[in-house]
Amino acid sequence: MDRPHSVAEENEALTQFLYLAPVGLTQLSMSGEILMLNPISAQLLMPLSRDGGLENLFTALEGVAPELRYLASNFVLPHGRICDGMRVQLNAGVRGVSDPQFLSLTLLKLDESRLMAVLSDITLQVKRERLLRQNEAWFNAILAGVTDYALVRLDGVGRVEAWNTSIGRVTGFSEADVIGRPYSIFSPDDATTADRDLDRLHEADASGWSIDEGWRVKADATRYWGSAAIVPLIDRAQRNAEDDCALDFPDDAQYCMVIRDITERRAGSEKHRLDTICDHLTGIANRRTFFEAGELEIERYRRSPRPVSLLLFDADNFKRVNDVFGHAGGDAVLRHLATLLASTFRQVDVVARLGGEEFAVLLPSCDLSQAVALAERFRRSIEAEGVEVDGEMIHYTVSGGIAAMDDSVSGLDALVKRADDALYAAKAAGRNRLERWPVPAPAAQVT
Ligand code: GH3
Ligand code: MG
Ligand code: MG
Repeated sequence: MDRPHSVAEENEALTQFLYLAPVGLTQLSMSGEILMLNPISAQLLMPLSRDGGLENLFTALEGVAPELRYLASNFVLPHGRICDGMRVQLNAGVRGVSDPQFLSLTLLKLDESRLMAVLSDITLQVKRERLLRQNEAWFNAILAGVTDYALVRLDGVGRVEAWNTSIGRVTGFSEADVIGRPYSIFSPDDATTADRDLDRLHEADASGWSIDEGWRVKADATRYWGSAAIVPLIDRAQRNAEDDCALDFPDDAQYCMVIRDITERRAGSEKHRLDTICDHLTGIANRRTFFEAGELEIERYRRSPRPVSLLLFDADNFKRVNDVFGHAGGDAVLRHLATLLASTFRQVDVVARLGGEEFAVLLPSCDLSQAVALAERFRRSIEAEGVEVDGEMIHYTVSGGIAAMDDSVSGLDALVKRADDALYAAKAAGRNRLERWPVPAPAAQVT
């Protein structure tokens, strides 16, 4: 068989394979231009196409997987797996319009000029995982590795009704400490908000129980890792049907809360937990965790509107930091920025690395002007601090975009887009500064 013939045959076979494969296959140039895509790929990527067209996969995925282009251009081997099963969320699930859709993306380098993206729809799997995680937390709260438990009875707005010995044993609080106080006294100050505490009661009403794991605090201020399950003591659904006022929230409703010290169990599973929810470089929440937590916050907002703000920060001229101090210097700056973010904001805030040198902070129960003040303080401390790497000081700055949730925001993506527009305006206005949405007209129109 002569060579041209075999190449033609090979191409033919590859084309057939592409078209028949049961997963989405997209062949790309090194810069992400789509050279060929099979029907499943076309269908999966449809939500990303603008005006029915899709030219460059990296550009199309910029909003949801900005690190792709970077990973591809920095992959040095002649061929191999650039990323494996990266989870990409295509839409934030605008309520009433669609549910969030998730793709798994594996990117392969075929040779010096071609990449292959393998895509599959994992939306159902992600939903199931969430449910499983909830069930697992429920199961753990009942069975595994529990040191002790405290049983607390709450009134309709979450105030402790009575003291018992289990409260004293686990938390060290006396009767006078707890009676009539909101159940947030069992959590550290910055780990929850009044809104969040009410949300959990609503969740318990809606689904029969609400459970969460996190830091708890004892009377002597020591912390332990605890789970808290809240269960309504009366059948709210039945009650509401009788009263014919489904949204009413009467004061005499009662709940039972079981707090368990699960410090020991947590220690065992900590590494696995961190691997899945944290960014590998900085140790703070990763993009996926941010979007999951953000979706929940938007859902809570839809149920009962309350202030929610979003900050986006992007390191200024970061390319130059890499150029001058090397990649390791750049990495040190990213770690410094993440550490300062995590120590500046509250535990209830979601501090995450969205990708590259871009970070987000979601602030529940925080309005726009409070968010602006917090962001400004953070920007200034970055400007003042700098980070020392190998005996050399690296000074850097950040720009920030700020947006607040309101009824005109269709979903998490839309909120992120507003903060991003503001961030863009801050960059355009000279960097090392903040802008809030809505931004002045000329900058807002540039996309
Ligand atoms: P601007 O002020 O407009 O934000 O400019 P910039 O240079 O910060 O922005 P640009 O987006 O052009 O460059 C971001 C750079 O961040 C490009 C990429 O090489 C680098 N980068 C992305 N991820 C990492 C990482 O994990 N470590 C390091 N050291 N650099 C990274
Ligand atoms: Mg930057
Ligand atoms: Mg950037």
